[in-house]
Amino acid sequence: MRRALVAGNWKLNGSLATIQPLIKTILAGIERIQQAEIAVCPPYIYLPAVQAMLMGSPIAVGAQDVSDQDSGAFTGEVSAPMLRDFGVRYCIVGHSERRHIYGENDALTARKFAAARRSELWPILCVGELLEEREQGNTEQVVARQLDAVIHLEGISAFRDAVIAYEPVWAIGTGKTATPEQAQAVHAFIRQRLAAQDKRIAENVRILYGGSVKADNASKLFSQPDVDGGLIGGASLKSGEFLAICGAA
Ligand code: PEP
Repeated sequence: MRRALVAGNWKLNGSLATIQPLIKTILAGIERIQQAEIAVCPPYIYLPAVQAMLMGSPIAVGAQDVSDQDSGAFTGEVSAPMLRDFGVRYCIVGHSERRHIYGENDALTARKFAAARRSELWPILCVGELLEEREQGNTEQVVARQLDAVIHLEGISAFRDAVIAYEPVWAIGTGKTATPEQAQAVHAFIRQRLAAQDKRIAENVRILYGGSVKADNASKLFSQPDVDGGLIGGASLKSGEFLAICGAA
């Protein structure tokens, strides 16, 4: 039985003045949410403050990215051992904004995934197609390529301690959500692709959906058999909306 996960990706948002009330109201509402595991992924600079506020609560802390290197002359990077130092549990890798704005390719994403695992962080591997790739009928091919890059480097067993997030790029931050049927079809494809190598791992791995999830569409998406929660961008910055999404999982 897979336990649903709802992870909030704050992206490049927030300030010392806003994160405190946001976390406070999430904490106040979280007691009502028993089923799903909840995580928040603030910008790096706020991780220590958020971690301190969440100490002793059931909410986990995640990072939005990680270096593929553990230490050394890599200016501007933050490594997995550093994230571990601050009690971080999850780490998003291969988010479409990293892939498409900063040009991070499958190989670098796979190395970041490996770096997270070396430090016992759980990577949340984002995969997903561009609109034109979907329109050309290439969704499965793109998602398979993104998954295979990680399997090639780390082996299928790496997915024992990892999460996958299917995030169609055309649905991220656009207000256009995949239909529950579209999401389910790709989630089932991902699970089948993993099952071809290891049925047990495929059965146990959590596959989140991300892309304009809101309080009013979350329960239909999360009720699909292969959708195990969500990676939530914009709506994770509004406590009421985020709590409602968590309650739907
Ligand atoms: C995301 O950034 O991972 C995301 C899904 O964003 P949004 O929910 O805003 O579409």
